[in-house]
Amino acid sequence: MDHGLCEANGVCAGVAPEVFALDEDDRLQVLQEFPPAELLGRVREAVQGCPKGALGLRPGTEAGPQPT
Ligand code: SF4
Repeated sequence: MDHGLCEANGVCAGVAPEVFALDEDDRLQVLQEFPPAELLGRVREAVQGCPKGALGLRPGTEAGPQPT
């Protein structure tokens, strides 16, 4: 994510609170760099819903379930 673009409006944290949260200084924290497969749908939604285009998925993030 790009802190320079983020305006801390919390849209992503509303869509996927398990992965995105605003801290007390209104800075966005990414709680899970590699979210589990069951969260990826909402993470993708949050990325697409970010009005500032501050979020992106790393190549490989969508590769599917991680090896255990
Ligand atoms: S939706 Fe985008 S601009 Fe809003 S808090 Fe999340 S990353 Fe920042």
